[in-house]
Amino acid sequence: MSNIISHKIRVAGIVNDSITDGPGIRLTLFVQGCERNCPGCHNPSSLPLNAGKLYTAQEIMDRIKKNPMLSGVTFSGGEPMLQAEALLPLARMIKDAGLDLAIYTGFTFEELLKQGDPSVMELLSNASTLIDGPFILAQRSLNLSFRGSSNQRILNLKESLAQGKSVEESNPAWIGTSVVDAQYNK
Ligand code: SF4
Repeated sequence: MSNIISHKIRVAGIVNDSITDGPGIRLTLFVQGCERNCPGCHNPSSLPLNAGKLYTAQEIMDRIKKNPMLSGVTFSGGEPMLQAEALLPLARMIKDAGLDLAIYTGFTFEELLKQGDPSVMELLSNASTLIDGPFILAQRSLNLSFRGSSNQRILNLKESLAQGKSVEESNPAWIGTSVVDAQYNK
């Protein structure tokens, strides 16, 4: 993983009121830059490392504060872990504001643990949920809550970090669709 070193966050786009990137109404920050090239990538324009616009953490936080209806913030991409250092101040501000933070990544939790990058680990400690793993077109499903392919997991970060292993989220707000599907498929 080659980290993008910048004090500013390189951003592909911001959605102020997303209902597709986690429970409730969320501000979704699509960071710019990803070194993977997953066939069927949901956001190909976010892949070039040097495109997008630069924002300070405070500029994005000001935007978050403008919407009192938000229940959380989601970092998506692009690959947020490539900009862990730049995202950290924003993640801390989001936590201090009492908002939920979820992060999408093409890495697995195990890969991130093994790499042990201090900025990445601190970023994870400021978030509550990690949706991990790359998008795999052959495993694509429209029945998954908040995920594109069935290899991707929704992890409870507090438990995963405490136990040093991946612990899947049990909150129905995150996995609700899957529970309904499971009931119908009995
Ligand atoms: S990890 Fe995500 S952003 Fe990167 S290529 Fe794969 S689907 Fe696209």
